Amino acid sequence: MRITAAVVEELHGPFVVREVEIDEPGPGDVLVEVAGTGFCHTDGIARDGDLPFPLPGVLGHEGAGTVVAVGDGVTGVQEGQAVVLGWPSCGACRNCVAGQPRYCLRMGELVGGGHRLDGGSALRTTDGAPLSSHFFGQSSFATHAMTTASSVVPVPAGLPVELLGPLACGLATGAGAVLNTVRPEPGSSIVVYGAGTVGLAAVMAARNSAATTIIAVDRHASRLRLASELGATHTIDATDTDPVQAVTDICGGPADAALECTGVLPVVRQAVDSVGMLGTAVLIGGAPAGAEFTVDHLTTLWGKTIRGTLGGSGHGQALITALMDLHLQGRFPFDRLVEFFPLERIEDAVEASYSGAVVKPVIRMGG
Ligand SMILES: [Zn+2]
Ligand SMILES: [Zn+2]
Repeated sequence: MRITAAVVEELHGPFVVREVEIDEPGPGDVLVEVAGTGFCHTDGIARDGDLPFPLPGVLGHEGAGTVVAVGDGVTGVQEGQAVVLGWPSCGACRNCVAGQPRYCLRMGELVGGGHRLDGGSALRTTDGAPLSSHFFGQSSFATHAMTTASSVVPVPAGLPVELLGPLACGLATGAGAVLNTVRPEPGSSIVVYGAGTVGLAAVMAARNSAATTIIAVDRHASRLRLASELGATHTIDATDTDPVQAVTDICGGPADAALECTGVLPVVRQAVDSVGMLGTAVLIGGAPAGAEFTVDHLTTLWGKTIRGTLGGSGHGQALITALMDLHLQGRFPFDRLVEFFPLERIEDAVEASYSGAVVKPVIRMGG
């Protein structure tokens, strides 16, 4: 079938919108007509080679849309069903079997292999030349995406499907770090470094938790204002303030938990230094490949936990479903982060993301 996709031809190359061919769904496959796909920095990282993905190919991993065809053996999802395209997992490795699909041992292959887990690519050029597909199991910068039945999440009635794709990555990552990883104790404090999509999702999730002190740190006054409106009890502009000292002043000592959503190495250190005895620093933001960081040895011995998290940990399906319900209830208003762009203007969306003009650009396939 002929579809329209934003193709990246080469490393650092632009997104070129053109027609490509997509397969019919094979066994276990689900073909989705995409309504909208968020742009996430991980798409940019893949285009620039810091996350390996064979090019030419189609990126995009925050898609949502409507099922238009299913392959053999697919049960539980039908044509006409609105779905969020969740992260893939193999379902068979040790971590998947243990209930930790975000840490599937075949994750690298699943997100960046450029093809089905045990098969070929679903995409090719109109001349029949190979194109990589299945980026994060979807490649959804396109009017249609091939994914697997096991990774789609049904959308409840009453939600605009074109808005929901970012729930699968950026929003789940920030919210899951709070709800699955930190699990704030009643009356605890949490500091969030970086008020982009991930950090603001963390703030909104913390607002739905038992944490009573929620601090957002950023360098953009507009993002800090937004953080306050979404649930931060305090904000720190790190442009001219030492955030570690400011956190100590607000909390009357170190914070109980810190979330590092920037991937900027000096900020990683600030996040670790913001928590004290028995505190937890969660590393979320992506730094360049090969990056290293140092910590203070003595204060780390004080029962401190430094841990990483991918995609919000836990079960993506359960988390995404919960976030959709919270959104319906007005308790997770992530639509305030979103601005829509038509597929033809995908490069403008990328620029708006990098400049910070838009927190979460979403490419709307219907224009
Ligand atoms: Zn697995
Ligand atoms: Zn992402």
